[in-house]
Parts: sequence; structure tokens; C-alpha cells
Amino acid sequence: MDSRMVESYALGRWHRATDEGRAVLSPVDGAEVARVSSTGLDVSAMAAYARETGGPALAALTFHERAAALKALGLTLMAGKAEFYAESARTGATERDSGVDIDGGFGTLLSYASKAKRELPNDTVYLDGPVEQLGKKGTFLARHVFTARRGVAVQINAYNFPVWGFLEKLAPAFLAGVPSIVKPATQTSYLTELVFRRIIESGLLPEGSVQLLCGDPAPLLDSLGGQDSVAFTGSAHTAAKLRAHPVLVERSVHFTAEADSLNASVLGADVTTDAPEFDLYIKQLTTEMTVKAGQKCTAIRRALVPEAMVGAVVEAARARLERVVVGAPGAEGVTMGPVVSLSQRTDVLAAVDKLRGAAELVSGDPDDFTVVGGDAATGAYLPPMLLRSTDPEAPDVHEIEAFGPVATVIGYRDTAHAIELVARGGGSLVASLVTADPQLAREVLLGIAPFHGRLLVLNAEDARESTGHGSPLPVLVHGGPGRAGGGEELGGIRGVLHHMQRTAIQGTPAVLAATTGQWVAGAPRTEGDEHPFRKSLAELKIGDTIVGGPRTVSLADIGHFAEFTGDTFYAHTDPEAAAANPLFGGIVAHGYLVVSLAAGLFVDPAPGPVLANFGVDSLRFLTPVRADDALTVTLTAKQITPRSGADYGEVRWDAVVTNQDDSPVATYDVLTLVAKTRDGGEP
Ligand code: NDP
Repeated sequence: MDSRMVESYALGRWHRATDEGRAVLSPVDGAEVARVSSTGLDVSAMAAYARETGGPALAALTFHERAAALKALGLTLMAGKAEFYAESARTGATERDSGVDIDGGFGTLLSYASKAKRELPNDTVYLDGPVEQLGKKGTFLARHVFTARRGVAVQINAYNFPVWGFLEKLAPAFLAGVPSIVKPATQTSYLTELVFRRIIESGLLPEGSVQLLCGDPAPLLDSLGGQDSVAFTGSAHTAAKLRAHPVLVERSVHFTAEADSLNASVLGADVTTDAPEFDLYIKQLTTEMTVKAGQKCTAIRRALVPEAMVGAVVEAARARLERVVVGAPGAEGVTMGPVVSLSQRTDVLAAVDKLRGAAELVSGDPDDFTVVGGDAATGAYLPPMLLRSTDPEAPDVHEIEAFGPVATVIGYRDTAHAIELVARGGGSLVASLVTADPQLAREVLLGIAPFHGRLLVLNAEDARESTGHGSPLPVLVHGGPGRAGGGEELGGIRGVLHHMQRTAIQGTPAVLAATTGQWVAGAPRTEGDEHPFRKSLAELKIGDTIVGGPRTVSLADIGHFAEFTGDTFYAHTDPEAAAANPLFGGIVAHGYLVVSLAAGLFVDPAPGPVLANFGVDSLRFLTPVRADDALTVTLTAKQITPRSGADYGEVRWDAVVTNQDDSPVATYDVLTLVAKTRDGGEP
């Protein structure tokens, strides 16, 4: 294997260290694979470059434009993934392990791109919650908005996911409009660097929006301030050190950590050995022990099973673990590779030794196992090791994380005891429960939820579709309290908002409308000669209004609507029964009749830029409409969202229907698709 110097990408160019750097050895055979150093790199200048070049470049793009860049990047990287798999094998990853890291990483880019397009506006401001009316007359309102922080997102990653690890942090920051500096773990930085080269070569991301720092990041943290953030994944020890970094503390730099976690998997008391759930439990446990040789922050470390099931679980798991073939990735039949380095192997063995004070080793002997296609002496190989606790209450089995192919089976007395034992992990990223009983699931889930960021319930019904205990998903929260680091990542748009500042804006309706780009009640309306439905997206402005009516509702209208639709509810058809209704006291019009009549009052019928009505939001009927009431509708363009990549966009209209006394009888938002130009061409 060739060894190469890993470079950093900083200030718009690749940087090679001025010294020989630190040697990184392959866990497969102990040969040198890379050298890593940041010597000669002006690390502080990287932060300034991100803020001054990357930040403004990102600010010029809307959420949708950033999403389009991420999508194109995800597809480009996916198309060239073969070379990443080859490099990944040098880190000790099998093909299956590489899939989790590489496809998982690129999939995260695509998932974020699609979520952003659907759930974020085509804008740079994100609105949070409703308008708050602070004064009686409606001249003083407030609204919360999110805007991108003007800093840099520093991402310090662990060695175990050299691809997914940085992309899952980068995607939300990029969408938010915040440039990233990626610092990979030295041990596997050569794979991160290779992917980064392809990212830079693609030219898809604006200059300065992403930089790579391989080697020592220390001076970088000294240059951070209140608009910057640090997101860390790695050991609890380093997390604690960084959290207390004087500059981060003094300047309130946003800091999140995702650290060690003793994740539990609970076998429900309802599961018998002949139930399908028993096999699911065993399969999941042994899979989690062996994927990435157990070096996953979400892997199962504690298998909690009813006391009476301990023997059966150990037997069944041992039978599966004995079929695991340990060896060099790619060698014939190998299903589990080495851990990442010889020192990691030493750490795992030391942790297993400690665990053996409160548990016995029941499967896997580190001094006697077969290695296929690799050398047990020079490579970092370990067998999968299963322990059985001799004392479920012993702190060590709940506190010592052997970050390798290791798990401990622990017996519990009853469900309350199981909940208590799970909580002894002190906060974890994830736990799973295998049960076919929804009531038992409720009891366990609500008992352990405060200690976790994610919970999975597995049984025969969802097993085929289940994404598994150990898979963080871009749309779900990843993180956990306490020992797990106290941070939160991903979770769809929540992860994007972590990079943005929430601000409460107070002012007049006109100020709020101008600032947020969304019309609010009380802001100026424009009633022109031309019907707003005749205007293309390019011509329409928020506040453009059409007032239709009045239209008197007759008893015959109500009777006709009842008969025509089949909605003959007594309040619309039976005068006596309707009179006894405490809310109506007589015949009232259907709410849907009101909405239909309103459409008749505001629609402009001829073909034009309005292409379709795709729904209504927030429909409320506020005042009953009786025969002879006269309805007026006011329709105002509230929000205009051009869709990138389409020749139309969305227009949200504020609709208010009032009666002859000017009381609102119905309020809602009408959602339409409108062409960008009158003739359908480019604006
Ligand atoms: P570390 O905490 O040592 O390293 C994690 C990252 O932090 C690496 O990028 C590392 O860089 C960087 N780093 C270390 N010290 C500093 C510092 N002072 N300032 C800034 N950055 C720093 O974890 P390891 O990767 O070495 O793994 C050790 C243990 O951590 C594992 O055995 C396991 O127990 C746990 N772990 C937990 C994970 C999780 O997701 N919960 C994932 C991986 C590991 P560099 O590599 O250059 O030192």
C-alpha cells in the first residue's frame, strides 16, 4: 500500500504541511497508509476566510438554491463512490461498513436537500411560530424569525465515520447559510480528504463555504467568537476538555457534543423464545456488535433481558457470533474487519478486562481466534466478545464503554427494574425495545425517553421496514443527554436551525411584512384595477388584494347545498332541531358552502397565470352564517415562493370572509400555483 501526505483545503487552495507529519498505520496489516500534519497552516486565517468569503457567498443564495447545490453534490459523489470504497477498506471497513459510512453520508446530503426544498421557504429568513398581537388595535405585533449566524461552523469529527460524520454536520450548516471548517480525526482523515477533493473539484459549493483542516486544530478555537459554533463527536474526555475551553466559555461560542454512550436494547417481558421477536432481538444485537467492528456511537453495549431469558439469549447470540468471520476487508468470507488502530484495540481489551470484574466473558476469546487474510499480530483484530453480567447493579457494566465488538447481557427482574437499569447509562443516544405489546412499549418508552435522543420499538410488524437500532437518520434527532454529550444533531430542519439565531421582532404590521416577506393583517393592501389572478409570479406583490361581494345567502342556497352534496346535517335542514342547538339556535349555512361561495366571489375565471389551487391551510369557521346574511371576501397575497427548477411557484393568499356586520365568519389561507410569467417562459 502507498503512504501519502494528507493535505488540508484552506483559503481556497490545498495546503501541504511543511514537516513530515504523524504516520497513520493501517489496522489491516500495520503498514503506513498516510502522514498527517497541519504544520505551516494559518489556522486562524481559515476562520476569517470562512466568515469573509464563504459567509457572503452563502448569504447570496436562498434555502432552495443551497438545497439544489447539495442535491447536485450528493448525486455527483454517489456516482463516483467506487474509489471511496477502495480507500475505506484501508481504514478496516468491510463493504457493509463502508456502505453505512459512504452511502449513508451521501444519502444524508440528498435527504437534507429534499427536506429543505419542501419545508424551507425559497428565502434566507425562516419564520418561527405565529404573529403575536401585542396591542389591542393591532398596530404593534411581533414575530420570531431565524437568520443565519455570521460565523463559522467548526466540525470536529470522530474516526469511525470519516464520510458520514462530516457530511451530517456540513449539510445542515450549509443549508442554514453558515460556512464550515471540517476537522476529521487523524486516524481516518485520508478518506475524508479524498471525498473533500471530489467536492472541491465539483465546483458545486461556493468558495469559502467548506474548508478542511487535517492535523492539529488547536489555534482555531482561540479565534472563535459568539457567531461561531463547534460541533464535536468523539470521546467524553475530549468533549469535556473542549467544553471548558476558556475562549469558548468567555465568548459564548455555541458548543455541542456527541460523546460515548452505553446504549441499551431491552427484550420485552412478553417475548418467548419461540416468538419472532426473540430472533429479531438476537439478530439486532449481533449485528450491532459487528457492524464497523462495534465502533459505532449508537451500537448496543447493554442487552437487558428478563432474568429467566439470560441463558437463552446468551446461547442464541453465541451461535450467531460464532459464525462471524474476522479478517481483512475484502478477504474471502470476512464479515467483520479490525478496529481502527492497534491503540484502539488496546483500549477495547482494557475496557473488557475492567468489565470482567462485574461480568463473565461468554463468547469470543481475544487470545484465541482466527483471522482471515490478515495478520493477528500486526493488524488490529478482535473477536466479537459477549459478556454476561454477574451483578446487574454493578456500576461498571453501565459506565464502561468498550468501543469495539463488545456487549454485555444483563438480567432484569421486572419492567420497572429494566427502566431503572437503562437509566443507569446516564444518558444515551439511542435505546431499542423488542416487544409485540404496545402497552408495555408505552411503559418502557415513557420511562426511558428522558434519557435518550431516539428510541426504537422493534417487532414482527415493523421489522421488514425498520431502519435498525444503530442508524441515525437525517430526519430524526441524533444526540442524547448527559453522558451522550448533551447535544442534538440532524432531526431534519431542526438541525438547520441550530445554525441560526432566533430573534423576536416587534413593530407595526408594515414593518413585519417588509422584514419577513410575508403579509400580515394590518399591513398595507393594494387594490388595483387588475385582478391579482391576472398577474404572473414576477408581477404579483405581497399585499395585492381583491375584495369580492357582497353575496346574500338564502335559505334555498342552504337547502340546495345540503341536497346537492348529501350533507343534510340537521343544523342545515331541520329548523326545529337546529333551534335546539345551543350554538346555532336555528338553521345555519354549511361552512363549506361559505368557502365555496367565497371562491365564487374572488375567482377570475379566464385562463391566466393561476394554474391550480392545491389546498387551504388553517381553515376556521368563526361566526355562524344564517339565511339572508351577506358575505364579503377579502383575498390578499400573503407569501410568494418561486420554485427553483420549475416555471411556476406557490402563492399563499390570506382569505377573510365577513358578514354584513363586518364580523369574520371564516378565515383561511388559499394555496395556489402561479406561473412565473404570463406566457409561461422564463421571467
Ligand atoms: P477523541 O475524542 O480523541 O477525538 C475526536 C476528535 O477530536 C478527533 O477529530 C480529534 O482529532 C479531535 N481532538 C482531540 N483532541 C482535541 C483537542 N484538544 N482540540 C480539538 N480537537 C481535538 O476520540 P477518538 O476518535 O480518538 O476516539 C476515542 C474514543 O472516543 C473511542 O474509543 C470511543 O470511546 C469514543 N468515541 C465515541 C464516538 C461517538 O460517536 N460517541 C465516536 C468515536 C469515538 P485527532 O484525531 O487529530 O486527535
